[in-house]
Amino acid sequence: MLAVDLEEEKKEIIRRYRKLLRLAKPFLKQGDAKLIKKAFYTSAEAHKEMRRKSGEPYIFHPLAVAQICVEEIGLGTTSIVSALLHDVVEDTEWELEDINREFGLKITKIIDGLTKISGVFENGSSQQAENFRKMLLTLSEDVRVILVKLADRLHNMRTLGSMPRNKQLKIASETIYLYAPLAHRLGLYAIKSELEDLYLRYTEHEVYKEIAEKIKLTKRVRTRFINKFTKPLQEELKKHDFNFAIKGRPKSIFSIWNKMKKQDIPFEEIYDLFAIRIIIDTSLEEEKSACWQVYSIVTDFYQPNPDRLRDWISTPRANGYESLHTTVMSNNGQWVEVQIRTKRMDEIAEKGYAAHWKYKDNAGNSSESGLETWISRVRDMLEQNDTTAIEFVDDFRGNLFNEEVFVFTPKGDLKTLPSGATALDFAFEIHSEIGARCIGAKVNQKLVPLNHTLKNGDQVEILTSNKQKPNEGWLRFVVSTKARAKIKDELKEHKKYIAEEGKEIISRKLRQLKIDSTRENYDRLRAFFDVSTQFDLFYKVGSGLIATRDLKRFKEFKPFSKAFKNDNGTEVSDAKSFEKEIKKAKGKNNDMLLIGEDMDLVDYRLAKCCNPIPGDDVFGFVTINEGIKIHRTLCPNTPELLASHGHRVVKAKWASQHQEAFLVSLKIIGTDRVGLINDVTTIISNELKVNMRSMSIDTDTGIFEGEIMLYVNDTSHLDLLIQELEKVTGVVKVQRFYS
Ligand code: MN
Repeated sequence: MLAVDLEEEKKEIIRRYRKLLRLAKPFLKQGDAKLIKKAFYTSAEAHKEMRRKSGEPYIFHPLAVAQICVEEIGLGTTSIVSALLHDVVEDTEWELEDINREFGLKITKIIDGLTKISGVFENGSSQQAENFRKMLLTLSEDVRVILVKLADRLHNMRTLGSMPRNKQLKIASETIYLYAPLAHRLGLYAIKSELEDLYLRYTEHEVYKEIAEKIKLTKRVRTRFINKFTKPLQEELKKHDFNFAIKGRPKSIFSIWNKMKKQDIPFEEIYDLFAIRIIIDTSLEEEKSACWQVYSIVTDFYQPNPDRLRDWISTPRANGYESLHTTVMSNNGQWVEVQIRTKRMDEIAEKGYAAHWKYKDNAGNSSESGLETWISRVRDMLEQNDTTAIEFVDDFRGNLFNEEVFVFTPKGDLKTLPSGATALDFAFEIHSEIGARCIGAKVNQKLVPLNHTLKNGDQVEILTSNKQKPNEGWLRFVVSTKARAKIKDELKEHKKYIAEEGKEIISRKLRQLKIDSTRENYDRLRAFFDVSTQFDLFYKVGSGLIATRDLKRFKEFKPFSKAFKNDNGTEVSDAKSFEKEIKKAKGKNNDMLLIGEDMDLVDYRLAKCCNPIPGDDVFGFVTINEGIKIHRTLCPNTPELLASHGHRVVKAKWASQHQEAFLVSLKIIGTDRVGLINDVTTIISNELKVNMRSMSIDTDTGIFEGEIMLYVNDTSHLDLLIQELEKVTGVVKVQRFYS
């Protein structure tokens, strides 16, 4: 049982409410306090049975959102009331009509807007981006909807710790994809940075912790540096009677992380960990000249980098940001960014344009008109956008998050992947089991292969098959660490499983052959089959690369057969000597056979089991009835031939100038689409002028599997062909195989 002191809780609710009122007081007009009180009691009553995931009374949340609106965005009564009521219609019995009756149309419209936004995500669909744009368009009529929503999101992010992990990731992804760029666009820098940091904290906790820790550890050195750097400036500014403050704050954890990733450097190598900010208090009409005067003082002491001067005072940024930036050389040879701005500019930069309300112009009018200009600018930005919704959102996100790609599941859930991620990365992101069984995907309803690179806003559906298994080639086209690790695990697991089977087969066979399962005999086996480790031996037997009947030949192998009789005879016990014995058996005195030139000297044929082509490593093998046969050294029969009939092996290599066509078999695997076969055959016959002997194709559940037999000149010709075929859209893998 959760013991809650309800009396104490009530007191705490009232305390928080009073704090809100206290913060809002400077901006309240007549009747405002009464309205806020009414909203507070309405909300507290409506939510009274509800608790947040953390166990706290629900009303703590609307109160906190309202407080963010006042304290961190600088909003007034309408927003406070809306913030207090923002979850009432969505989560309680209250209807919009009730709000309209009690609080009027203006508040109702804002609450309606806020309720709709959460709908966009809750019932998220592929239309998310489009909905988001529409929502912004209709709702920017009253920009407070967006601002209150941002405050709501900020508080939810601050309290994300009590949410289950999957919710944390979903909320954090939405935040970095939509809300942080939105805050940036609206000029709410402090909120934007905090949202980004919180995103990092919940998605890359270790990284977050490490950077936070390092910032703390380097604080003393930094402070000493900043004090030394600013000392002469302080003195000079005082001489000129400036009313000023100098801050030297480190950059946000998120932006430091971004720098580390982008430049691929450790924390210690980031030189611009912080910026110096000089904030002066001056009248509105002297702002510009005063800032330039400060610039002049700074550059009297430190040499500026002319390429790094940014004047956002003469031409403010679209989101209203005003400031003068320069980068100067400090006395110890380190570049330092200096930002010069007035108190008013600083407040706008931190809290956004809403903060501007507080400033009165010369005539004593509050500059409500400034806010209007800003709102209409936001509206313009939204309306001008006649490109697609995705581009809009991308544009919105600017170049801030280039390292990541944002894609949707069929149900509309947002997933964040490293940029360059493929359909296979996405499959592993969903679940490692889905990744391991992935055979392809549908991206925006179109079939694509595993290695298809994803773009922002893609909606991805993964196709799986129970027959699918990860292979080494997959490692070439995944970029996420998660997918890489899982594939490697699966490969290892699979190999281990097969080796396990191989081990059983061997020990069973040895028993049948009455050979003891001693270490020496295993070493002999290794040497006989020419594999370097015991694991490889087990694996090769398990996977059939070494056939069980070959184990029998092993027993008959002369150099060893004595040992198996295990009485007299010399016992050789180390692997090295076994290998030597085999080398001896292979017989090295044969002359090299030149394939293509020695045609008339000897009778030879290419072995059917491995279809060697010029360029392959090969050897000749003297058969009893069919003359010499040429095998690839990679032929599955090679170990047996070399080991048990070493004396019949003839060294062979390809004569260099040889024009003949050789038959090879290729397996092509891909996702099926109309025209795929045509594309494949066009490349084979038209582009590379290769003759095809046969082709068989099997398409099953959208997967294309073709076996093609064709004639090539040599391995480089074959490699080129494989390369070209792999470029065909839909083709996932092209492999030579032995039929
Ligand atoms: Mn809320």
